[in-house]
Amino acid sequence: MKRKKLKIKGIVQGVGFRPFIYSLASRYGLNGFVLNDTEGVVVEIEGRKTGVEKFILDITKKIPPLSRIEEINISELPPVGYSNFTIKPSAQKEERFVLISPDIATCDDCLKELFDPRNRRFHYPFTNCTNCGPRFTIIKGIPYDRPKTTMESFKMCDECQFEYDDPLNRRFHAQPNCCSRCGPHLSLVDKRGKEIIENDVMKKTIELLKKGKIVAVKGLGGFHLACDAMDKSAVRRLRERKGREDKPFAIMVKNVQTAKRFCRVNKAEKEMLLSKRRPIVLLSKNGFCPIVDDVAPRQKYLGVMLPYTPLHHLLSSELEALVMTSGNISNEPIVFKNEDAVVQLKDIADYFLLHNRNIHIRCDDSVARIFNGKEMLIRRSRGYVPEPIEFPYESQILACGAELKNTFCLTRDNYGFLSHYIGDLENSETFEAFSDGIKHFKNLFSIEPEIIAYDLHPEYLSTKYAKQLLENDSSLTGIPVQHHHAHIASCMLDNHIEERVIGVAFDGLGFGIDGNLWGGEFLTADFKGFHREAHFKYIPTPGAVQAIKEPYRMAVAYLLTTYGEDFNKLNIGFLKRIGQKKIAVIKEMIFKGINSPVTSSVGRLFDAVSSLLGICDIITYEGQAAIELEMAVSSPYVYNSRRIEYNYIIENKNDMYIIEPEVIISGIVEDIKKDIPQGFISLKFHNTIVNIIVDACVKIREKTDIKNVALTGGVFQNIFLLKRTMAQLQNRGFIVFTHHRVPTNDGGISVGQAVIAGCKVTEA
Ligand SMILES: [Zn+2]
Ligand SMILES: [Zn+2]
Repeated sequence: MKRKKLKIKGIVQGVGFRPFIYSLASRYGLNGFVLNDTEGVVVEIEGRKTGVEKFILDITKKIPPLSRIEEINISELPPVGYSNFTIKPSAQKEERFVLISPDIATCDDCLKELFDPRNRRFHYPFTNCTNCGPRFTIIKGIPYDRPKTTMESFKMCDECQFEYDDPLNRRFHAQPNCCSRCGPHLSLVDKRGKEIIENDVMKKTIELLKKGKIVAVKGLGGFHLACDAMDKSAVRRLRERKGREDKPFAIMVKNVQTAKRFCRVNKAEKEMLLSKRRPIVLLSKNGFCPIVDDVAPRQKYLGVMLPYTPLHHLLSSELEALVMTSGNISNEPIVFKNEDAVVQLKDIADYFLLHNRNIHIRCDDSVARIFNGKEMLIRRSRGYVPEPIEFPYESQILACGAELKNTFCLTRDNYGFLSHYIGDLENSETFEAFSDGIKHFKNLFSIEPEIIAYDLHPEYLSTKYAKQLLENDSSLTGIPVQHHHAHIASCMLDNHIEERVIGVAFDGLGFGIDGNLWGGEFLTADFKGFHREAHFKYIPTPGAVQAIKEPYRMAVAYLLTTYGEDFNKLNIGFLKRIGQKKIAVIKEMIFKGINSPVTSSVGRLFDAVSSLLGICDIITYEGQAAIELEMAVSSPYVYNSRRIEYNYIIENKNDMYIIEPEVIISGIVEDIKKDIPQGFISLKFHNTIVNIIVDACVKIREKTDIKNVALTGGVFQNIFLLKRTMAQLQNRGFIVFTHHRVPTNDGGISVGQAVIAGCKVTEA
């Protein structure tokens, strides 16, 4: 007779772990108990020695699909003679720390029930079980039990309770378990807030969508605005009402076969579409794609997702493709409460498909793509959060992140909890989502940060938030982190490397240690620190923020740098299009240094070229000019040209390499004068940037002997650039690291800040 106690840590709550233990124990005829405590799961087993041993082996071998074991601690105890095996109620203790599962897409078993007319859950939009359903978005606190979720107000009917209590049932202790008799339900409301009384609300909603109506649909982590993606006027109307002129919409289709009608889907992409995380996957559009052009204007890629809740399965079952875009106004966070939706979205949506299961914390859809056969996240949110990232330090840190695409990161015990997508911290609503989110994570994971990491930019709201915390509590340690250093560190962490790298950090802008706006940086770096080895030449940004919104301003700045005042005599369409009046104002600003901070940003260089080529003079969403420049790249085989790149100059000034763009700009201007097509100029420009990166990295390697290169920053969302750069660097013997789970854009900054801060305090 043996008795053993097992303490199991990891994602082991709300994922069917206790029933799994229960059935294992009965298989080997063991007695004892299992319970959830605030650190994970505690098991005591008693029985024959071989049974106990097999039981322990099976735990890691047969682990339930959604769980993840981080640690099993086993101790031997004297036998006490348990008479059966039981599942005990959760234990409350002082120390409270458990991992929480992300929200998981509807499993196959639930899906079968959903579409089985004989099943009691037929067409019930909130069907779930231990293997699927809402988690992160409904959890209010820990331990994870129904009273600590937004399901607390729904009392289970007898049948549901029976399932919940039966250790051999798929719904044993499935906290959100419910059915049409006892659980949440849908309601349909018009834009005046009047409820539409219908027997089958879902059927009615589908009818409305088919008629071209725009419906605000409450989902898992917030509202979507939905319309028929094959209906040109509906899509147009949605764009007009939302004031979103060009930014691509994502679509939802019922299955992979349908996705293939619109896009190419390879094996890895198919797996990602079908994964339990169900991100929006960026797919290459087919040559003939019947989706309305306005869904993703001038894009080669389309964001496609499959349904991830029963509600979405029902909604998309009878429509070819649905536009499903975040339900928000302008730059505010996604709406997630019924009462806010009917007010804030009333000028956009014709109808509202509501339900009465509250969303406790909003969570946007994740966006991902496959790069080189591997997952590459552009937005890490629903389905991924709050699963932690491995973190090399144990300190409790809050890293406040950047301004755009903000996320924050809280750490403890070798875990980095990278938050859901917060958004652009440019208004009070988003800032509130940011500070509420931090509070929620601190509570969920019992983290009381001693260290606050933040960006150097004094105007970021995230920086101001950090400084406020530090001012209010002198026991906290503040660690400012340079933006591009954070980018590089985030890429290193994502790839589990700690040795020094050549970090190529290209983005829109980040505050530099010299007070200028950086963004075309080559830093040798590790978590401890960095040295700036090379950068693009500083160019004025006439109008600062305005120059980001109006790329033609950057084009003027580059022309002025290249040609001096003479650029006015150039015979190119750009000058005629913009007009002498505007150009004169911009020149004046630059000459007098009015509101024209200098920048080394590669993002701004892409903007300038995009405008010079007449692709995009004024943007309506972040990164548009650069994205459309990438989309314009054409195949080199279309043209007979000896050279498909421009010249460039890298100067060595006081041991710093400066990349001078003048000859690139003049090369482009010469091509424009010769009427070379946009697509070919774009191709040549991209190739030039690749050559510059390789050339600069070779120079830095000669000096430092570092062979590892990390490619990071928002510019590397440009897949054409990333692919070529990676290949060329590898040809030259570099080991190249790119982003996978941590976004390359500013959504990854907080993780980088955290790891740099963690290193600093650990080494100190
Ligand atoms: Zn299920
Ligand atoms: Zn029920």
